[in-house]
Amino acid sequence: MNSSCSLGIPSLTSGEKAHSEIEISLSARNIRRLLSFQRYLKSSRFFRGVTAQNSLYILDDDYNGQAKCMLEKVGSWSFDIFLFDRLTNGNSLVTLTFHLLSHHGLIDHFQLDMVKLRRFLVMVQEDYHSQNPYHNAVHAADVTQAMYCFLKEPKLAKSFTPWDILLGLIAAATHDLDHPGVNQSFLIKTNHYLATLYKNTSVLENHHWRSAVGLLRESGLFAHMTLEERQHMEGQLGSIILATDISRQNEYLSQFRTHLDRGDLCLDNASDRLFILQMALKCADICNPCRTWELSKQWSEKVTEEFFYQGDVERKYKLDVSPLCDRQTSNIANIQIGFITYLVEPLFVEWARFSNTRLSQTMLGHVGLNKASWKGMLQERSSSEEAD
Ligand SMILES: [Zn+2]
Repeated sequence: MNSSCSLGIPSLTSGEKAHSEIEISLSARNIRRLLSFQRYLKSSRFFRGVTAQNSLYILDDDYNGQAKCMLEKVGSWSFDIFLFDRLTNGNSLVTLTFHLLSHHGLIDHFQLDMVKLRRFLVMVQEDYHSQNPYHNAVHAADVTQAMYCFLKEPKLAKSFTPWDILLGLIAAATHDLDHPGVNQSFLIKTNHYLATLYKNTSVLENHHWRSAVGLLRESGLFAHMTLEERQHMEGQLGSIILATDISRQNEYLSQFRTHLDRGDLCLDNASDRLFILQMALKCADICNPCRTWELSKQWSEKVTEEFFYQGDVERKYKLDVSPLCDRQTSNIANIQIGFITYLVEPLFVEWARFSNTRLSQTMLGHVGLNKASWKGMLQERSSSEEAD
């Protein structure tokens, strides 16, 4: 029996077989999502006639004391999202985003229906793939928490409108929605339908955005707004999420630099505030090396695991193994050093020029220390290899 027969799909190319391995887990996940949503509907007291006035109190009662206690420090840069996720029983994204929206008074301001909001957030959380080591709902919760820290910075806080804050938090929570755990080049070389649909351009980011729009519409969260407002929200959400395409980093970064050199950013302008939301989400998305070593190291391990898993599938199906995905030639330390040097440091140096605060200095401090730690590990490794 040849290998294609054993898979039961003899007409597929090896690339297509590789992504079919990923598709199988997708359909299982959709069923799980439905089940868990049903479970949620039954279990939540929310759906048993709790009124909007006292529902916040009831919600607080829903998660335990320690998680609630952590939320009092949700604006702290050392917030441990892994611990928070455990304390909320894997519901960090729903719990954190709901808390931030209510804390900012956005539920009242936009007259959001609490039931629809909860339903939307549960669907968002469930549409992340929990089997992805890195691109899962905990990463989305982490990015949302970082976005919140940036929104609190004085420059942003004094000029951002409730609309901007709502937009920023929703963009952060949904920015990697339904991420398959492999990168764009994998989707292209395996002829994945998403690559065709989005013409090989920002394939993942377009999919995250369209998935977010789909859930917004399905939940009816903004159904009470005018069509114009809804379209405006969906369009802006797209421009923020699309900015997270790392292959377009230089484009955004040079635009940011030019604005800072000219000193012409005016946050009274809606278009400049949108640009800062794009930059803030880009920063939040790649801020792992700016966290404390304990948190940063865990993220590095998770992202490396996801890269290497892709590399293993590529090798198995005799496709070119993507850069950074080959466990035989790459290692966690050199991946991190490259990532920090070429992507993280250049971005955060500019962010610190824009928002020169204690938080920016703390983040740059952690980046420096973390890079030094990875370099130390690399040196140890090479000296032990020499000793062998
Ligand atoms: Zn992300």
